[in-house]
Amino acid sequence: MSDHRHGFVFQERALRGVHAQCDGLMSDVLARHSYPAILQPLLGDLMLACALLSAHLKDDSALTLQLRGPGPLSLAMAECSAQGDVRVYGHYEAERLQPDMSFSDLLGAAQLALTLEHAGQRYQGIVQLQAAGLALSLETYFAQSEQLPSLILLAHQGERHAGLLLQALPGATATEDFEYASVLARTCRDAELLDLDSATLLHRLYHEDDLSLAPAAPLRFHCRCDRQRSLDALLSLGSADLEKLLMERHGSINVDCELCRQRQTFTTFDLLAYLQPTTRVQ
Ligand SMILES: [Zn+2]
Repeated sequence: MSDHRHGFVFQERALRGVHAQCDGLMSDVLARHSYPAILQPLLGDLMLACALLSAHLKDDSALTLQLRGPGPLSLAMAECSAQGDVRVYGHYEAERLQPDMSFSDLLGAAQLALTLEHAGQRYQGIVQLQAAGLALSLETYFAQSEQLPSLILLAHQGERHAGLLLQALPGATATEDFEYASVLARTCRDAELLDLDSATLLHRLYHEDDLSLAPAAPLRFHCRCDRQRSLDALLSLGSADLEKLLMERHGSINVDCELCRQRQTFTTFDLLAYLQPTTRVQ
């Protein structure tokens, strides 16, 4: 399996983690949007971080990470559901991009928002993005806002991305377990994160610990947009405006999803049932 994540738990420490590897997922993203090469590592890191942080969510939940700032990449967004459905999106001004731009050049003084959706409820936390990068900004957020000491390692090689998350269990008071496991995790090289399978990587890092490793859970590109959502958006315009729009568009309205580039087309015939009858033929 080329795109997956493995959750793991330390049996005798108040600590859990995730190892994720994506070999083809970024290619799936790029098949929909051909993002400039300078943006690809950042979007891939955001996708991977989101896959790591959503691994322990309950069914019916999803996590979105969003970066918004004044830089040429004004919006970067990744979403991952508990089931491993991933989507990624970036909005940028091509004329402001330079090939040698750093992470902070691309985003400027950006804000990082984490949005958790569960059973129709939304919870959002926002922090200032640090120039040192995404992983450190997320670690700071979890330490300060959630009181959850966390370590995030992100690596990439071309379109392949991998990462490791270590996080104290909610409610854990002592930090020794986290410190111990973090020191060992930091010895991990990018190539090991990318190339080793999870069991081998974790054995190499923590062979003295008793770890329970969950089965591999697949990650895939899947957008939540569908025809009904597009229809609902059109109907929210109201019958009169919808009719006007149909006239302007010569009887055919296209609704494009920005995230996956899927196009839904609605003709007058499709929408007839929702329009007010203006003339009645006897
Ligand atoms: Zn879509």
